[in-house]
Amino acid sequence: MKKIVIITGASRGIGRQIAKTLVNEGFQVIANYYNSEDKAIELQKELDNNIDIFKADVSKRENVRALVKYTLNKYGRIDVLINNAGISEYKMFTDETDEDWDRVINTNLYSAFAMCQEVTPNMVHNKSGCIINISSIWGIVGSSLEVLYSLSKAGMDGLTKALAKELAPSNIRVNSIAPGVINTNMNKNLSEKELRDLEEEIPLRKNWNARRYIKMRKMAN
Ligand code: NDP
Repeated sequence: MKKIVIITGASRGIGRQIAKTLVNEGFQVIANYYNSEDKAIELQKELDNNIDIFKADVSKRENVRALVKYTLNKYGRIDVLINNAGISEYKMFTDETDEDWDRVINTNLYSAFAMCQEVTPNMVHNKSGCIINISSIWGIVGSSLEVLYSLSKAGMDGLTKALAKELAPSNIRVNSIAPGVINTNMNKNLSEKELRDLEEEIPLRKNWNARRYIKMRKMAN
């Protein structure tokens, strides 16, 4: 029987790649998207319809409920939840507004809180489940000009650690993955200098080659 996995924000970037990998590994994936419907449909075609797509703004409770309800009605259970949807925000701390707070915190952190709340009753009932939160190195070490982003990811790690303890007796694992810098749209606004500085911080210079990324970016434009 196929394992049922929901991935939030799977139309692009990291979530899209996780979706492809899990479909190829034999999972039934429900790939959530919000703005990028064209990308989600393209992904579905690429995978010969072996993936389900569902539009939902996961920063809103009613949308989160709809996504989980759709999955349970169609597949009857949820084995894995991957909270991946996220946005970045580069701003001076003093320029941040309450609207920025709502947008970043709701998209990056509240979404994970609400998704976890909606899926856990089914996982607890099954006495089985796995939740993976995609946080970030910036949640651990902090990033200048990204206070809200760093805060949201640190919050995600707090959610992960507390929930892991609370759900362990029900045989549900909760973990965070904190990626470093990955070549996605999220980093498109970084300058060449910032990209090179980031490379400097990686002792082995593995997985992140600023020169290659800058070249790829120029070719795409
Ligand atoms: P992208 O910008 O490439 O993709 C973001 C994804 O999130 C898109 O699929 C987008 O969907 C989705 N999304 C955004 N807002 C919402 C929303 N309200 N409801 C549903 N989906 C939403 O970013 P990445 O792939 O780089 O990032 C994925 C995750 O990884 C994020 O949580 C990010 O913080 C984290 N991360 C990324 C790093 C990097 O260097 N790239 C490093 C560390 C962590 P749509 O376009 O359909 O709206």
